[in-house]
Amino acid sequence: MSDHIRLHIPGPVEISPGTYAATNTPMIGHRSKDFVALYDDVHPRLQQLMGTEQPVFLSTSSAWGVMEGSLRNLVKKKVLCCCSGAFSDKWVDVARRCGKEAEALQYDWGVPVDPADVDAKLATGEFDTVTFIHNETSTGVMNPLAEVAAVVRKYDDVCLVTDTVSSFSVVPIEFDKLGIDVLLTGSQKALALPPGLAIFTVSERAYDRAATVDDRGYYFDFHEFKKNQEKSMTPSTPCISTIYGLRHQLDVIFEEGVENRFARHGKLNDIVHEWIRANGFEFFAPEGFRSKSLTCVKNNKEIDVAKLGQIMREEHKIQLDGGYGKIKGTTFRISNMGDETEETIGNLLSCLDDALGKL
Ligand SMILES: *Cc1c(COP(=O)(O)O)cnc(C)c1O
Repeated sequence: MSDHIRLHIPGPVEISPGTYAATNTPMIGHRSKDFVALYDDVHPRLQQLMGTEQPVFLSTSSAWGVMEGSLRNLVKKKVLCCCSGAFSDKWVDVARRCGKEAEALQYDWGVPVDPADVDAKLATGEFDTVTFIHNETSTGVMNPLAEVAAVVRKYDDVCLVTDTVSSFSVVPIEFDKLGIDVLLTGSQKALALPPGLAIFTVSERAYDRAATVDDRGYYFDFHEFKKNQEKSMTPSTPCISTIYGLRHQLDVIFEEGVENRFARHGKLNDIVHEWIRANGFEFFAPEGFRSKSLTCVKNNKEIDVAKLGQIMREEHKIQLDGGYGKIKGTTFRISNMGDETEETIGNLLSCLDDALGKL
């Protein structure tokens, strides 16, 4: 595997040989004692990472499955979607496609969500659900989760659905303490697993709401997940191989130490930031709201980003991201999430130096 293209895009990220080996464990039945043991092994550690005593669920879907499913479980009146990038913008569209009434609280890309605006919207009494993306991967903005959660908690009948797809296991997240109602993440970002597994947890408030929604479907039904989790099982056949990978990654995470893992991500992010400043580039995200998992670099020097990506791939066997959606080419993104080290990030940056010199 040494000559493969190394991923430095913000998901899917590079997967370690140890994780690949773990996913290659012989198959077991999903109603067997072996599966119960596997789920029981990962469960308390997932609760710890999510900061919750609630059950944690394993959904065989990408994150979008649970993002859509949460709307199907919770929205009866109207959902307020905090929008400031590709993923958060899309959530409004998904809500409408589910036949839900939805309103966008729209910011320009790169601008963080302002809790005061959320408060003003919720004060109208029109909304029963809020969607919020903690780390907007398309823009590299980390939105103020604690502040937004505090605002939503002023409204007892409003559920807060939070996407931590690219911040989970990078920074501390406190589900119970913050009073979040659904917290979800995906396997292929900072957990550095193959895609196909979403992990989520649900509050009592959200179970109560879901219980009053008749057409919440089956595949993502919160109560179906809860009933099965009580027996350490999932509603349908899960992606067992990826769950073996998850068990391995949890071993790795807790061996490193959760605090050390957070600190490592912070340090690697700092190293990337130093490189950006040293090379005369600017940040797409404002200071104080920059993601610790990836950096969205503003292409203020108007370099040929596509060419940069091509040199990185062809000469250095590194896959670089050339910007997402409407900011493709005017930005590019550098991921430091997952199993990266000072060595791998150092190598990435020296390859970037080389490629920049060849433009
Ligand atoms: C990657 C990503 C998603 C989408 O995940 P899928 O696995 O494609 O469903 C959603 N939200 C954020 C913030 C992401 O970074």
